[in-house]
This record gives sequence, structure tokens and C-alpha cells, in this order.
Amino acid sequence: MTIPRSHPRYESLVRRGRLVRAWKRGIVVPEGLVAQGRGEAWDYLFGEGTSAPALVAERAAAAHLLAASRPVISVNGNVAALAAKEVVQLARAIPAGIEVNLFHRTEPRVKKIVRILEGAGARNVLGPRPNARIPGIESKRALSHRDGIFGADVVLVPLEDGDRAEALVRMGKIVISVDLNPLSRTSQRATIPIVDELTRAILNIKKFVEELKTAPAEAARVRRAYRRSGNLAAVFSFLEWRLGGLRRSLAGGGKASRTKKRRRTTRRAVVRQRQ
Ligand code: ATP
Ligand code: MG
Repeated sequence: MTIPRSHPRYESLVRRGRLVRAWKRGIVVPEGLVAQGRGEAWDYLFGEGTSAPALVAERAAAAHLLAASRPVISVNGNVAALAAKEVVQLARAIPAGIEVNLFHRTEPRVKKIVRILEGAGARNVLGPRPNARIPGIESKRALSHRDGIFGADVVLVPLEDGDRAEALVRMGKIVISVDLNPLSRTSQRATIPIVDELTRAILNIKKFVEELKTAPAEAARVRRAYRRSGNLAAVFSFLEWRLGGLRRSLAGGGKASRTKKRRRTTRRAVVRQRQ
């Protein structure tokens, strides 16, 4: 199905189509489609655009990725389906390692995702044959690489699960999450929660990486200035402002129509008096 460019929700529908195609190819799991739906609902509330507080978090994330000695980007099925090219470009700009790390892990799916990333230009993608376990996590979800997420000092985890984000923070890592739900445990646990849509966030982080690469003093200032609780509070203030605007526009509409009705009634009364 081709989606007309003029459709008001064009980007969102394109993303949906990409995920469904990736699901048919065994890259995305059905749970991934549900997760996307949850994200879309939040994106509606945010107005389907990057908020000012999200930009602040994205800039802080870029500054931390540049300062890291072992930065790693974690990739799952949804991330590979939605933003493989963008992730590879970001990894190259930092430069950072890439590890395929799945919640619903099967070895064929890991290999398929590695191939997608290689097709987008990545080299040395980690994922198959893991050699470490994230402490405090049960089952296959804990599997990782010593040269990848396990040994990283800064890890970017787009669309991560809350338990694993928490376990990575417990290991002493700087955990940067991308999750449209500011209430998810991932957003609540991450060192730098980015509340924005995945593709937009990755592109913004890359832009900031390129900007801050040649401005180390500014990058250091950005790292010092960032406050996670202040930033999350700003995300909620933004939501409040958005919802307030929507409420006021309804209330305003109601008031205007009430005024019109009153004017009409008055006019009729005047006409009646004249008759
Ligand atoms: P948690 O385990 O952190 O409490 P959860 O169980 O609600 O969260 P998961 O299924 O573990 O959610 O992860 C998916 C998260 O990613 C959801 O919070 C959803 O809002 C978010 N999400 C899904 N698609 C996108 C996207 N394209 N961009 C940004 N966020 C997204
Ligand atoms: Mg979860």
C-alpha cells in the first residue's frame, strides 16, 4: 500500500509499514508491534515532534557518548527495522560499537539483525556468540559481550526494557534511553532518559555529536549542566502545556459558540419587541 505524502500522519504510517514488513521477515516480534503502538499513543500527546526538553537530553547524550571510552549502541528488532541506517551513521560519527541485544532472543533473529546493520554499512557488529551475562537478569535476556554492552561505560539503549536498563545502571554505566513513555521504568531508571521518537532522537543525537565533536569545552559544559530530574520535570511541564492548550481551545470554542447563541437570542428578542 502506498501512503500519500500529503497524509497528515505520513511519517507514522511509514514507520508502521516498515515494522509490519520486518515482522513478516522475522526481524520484529509481535510484542514489538505492541510496543510501537504504545509509543505512538505518547507521540500523539507530544504532538509528533521533538520537545525542547527532549532536545536538551539528546544534546547531553551526544556529549556523554563523545566523552566515553567504550560507547556502545544496543540494537533490537524494532530499532533495526526503523533506523538501521541512522544507527550506523551515529555509531560512525561517535565512533561507537554496536551490539544486537534482544529481549526475545533467538540466534537466527540475532543473525538477521546483524545482516541488516551490515547492509547499512556497519562493520564488527556484536551479537552472536555472547561471552558475558548482565548480573541480576534472568534467562537469555542477560546475554551480552565483554567488548560490547557488558564492558561499555556509556550505553545507548533505544526501546529498552525497564529491568535491563536498571541492571545496566546498577553495573555503573551511563545509560541513555530513548523511549516515548516518560512513565516507563526505562525512562525512570536511565541516567539520561530521552523522551522522543526513535528515528528523530537518533538523527538529533548524531547532529549534536557532529556539533560537539569540535567543541570539547561546550561538550563538557553540557555534561555538567544536564540534570535528569529537572529534564524529566520539563517533559511533564511540556505535556501539561500541550494538554492545557487542547483544553483551552475546546473551552474557548464552547465559550465562543455560547456567546454567538446569546447574541442570536438577543437579536430575536429585539426583533420580537419591534414587531
Ligand atoms: P518498561 O519495561 O520500561 O516499564 P514497557 O514494558 O512499557 O516499559 P517495553 O515493551 O519494555 O515497554 O518497551 C517499549 C517502550 O518503547 C514503550 O514504553 C514505548 O512507549 C516505547 N516505544 C515504542 N516504539 C517507540 C518509538 N518508535 N520511539 C520511541 N519510543 C518507542
Ligand atoms: Mg518492559
